[in-house]
Amino acid sequence: MIAMTDDGSSIDPTKPSIARVYDYLLGGKDNYAVDRQIGDVFKRDLPGSVAIAFANRAALIRAVGEIATTTDVRQFIDLGSGLPTADNVHQVAQRHAPESRVVYVDTDPQVLVHGRALLEENDRTRVIAADVRTPEAIRNHPDTRELIDFDRPVAVIFSAILHHVNDEEDPAGIVRYWLDQVPSGSYFFVSHFRSGDNAETAEAERVLQKTFGRGRWRTGAEIESLLEGLEILAPGIVPASLWRPEVSDTPFNGGGERELTVWERLIAAGLARKP
Ligand code: SAM
Repeated sequence: MIAMTDDGSSIDPTKPSIARVYDYLLGGKDNYAVDRQIGDVFKRDLPGSVAIAFANRAALIRAVGEIATTTDVRQFIDLGSGLPTADNVHQVAQRHAPESRVVYVDTDPQVLVHGRALLEENDRTRVIAADVRTPEAIRNHPDTRELIDFDRPVAVIFSAILHHVNDEEDPAGIVRYWLDQVPSGSYFFVSHFRSGDNAETAEAERVLQKTFGRGRWRTGAEIESLLEGLEILAPGIVPASLWRPEVSDTPFNGGGERELTVWERLIAAGLARKP
């Protein structure tokens, strides 16, 4: 059965969704049998899938915590935000700085339904249905206009989303759009599948493309070129588990000193600042 959401889009439990499979890999409950089947194929054929998902989520949480505690930025736009999970962006930001405002953006109708119920827990958070590839619609959405003051620095979050934007859809142009909208002192968090030029990368890309028709592993240089015009902060674009692992603020943390597996190296993260 296909369920309709209040904005007229539909949830199809017979087709896997990126958001729901990711939720399953993180141990969430907002997924259907079809998502769990695909998630189990990922776990079998890509034994690092769970590590990739957790390493990614942990780096995002550390970055939001750092922005909230070490900068004056109090507004966040989370693009391709995913289903609500253990520690969402507004919870991390508002824990440190209760006045923080967060706009969550996702195309998946299930994110809207669950997000509205769980993420909009106060008047400083909103969930909007929009496509990251049409940034102007996000920028001009009434909720964005209401919550985000573009005369003040903003944290723009591209967590595990730009690798779902194909080259011909101009991911660099999407980042550039936001760069033009926000003032100096704004932050950009990016996490992205990073090519290790190895069999694991090829296999992971093959499985994701077959399942979703998306999932583009880019080299470190390609990821950095998406951030042109921004100052990439230390330690650079590095495996997500190694991105400032000492700041521990999350149940997902798993980085630290240990040797990373080849799989964990397939997801990179970094924080950049508009000069
Ligand atoms: N950002 C979260 C994180 O890092 O934990 C979730 C990442 S999840 C792998 C990718 C999310 O991007 C999914 O929720 C999916 O629905 C969403 N997504 C995929 N393509 C999108 C698009 N074109 N516009 C907006 N959201 C999209």
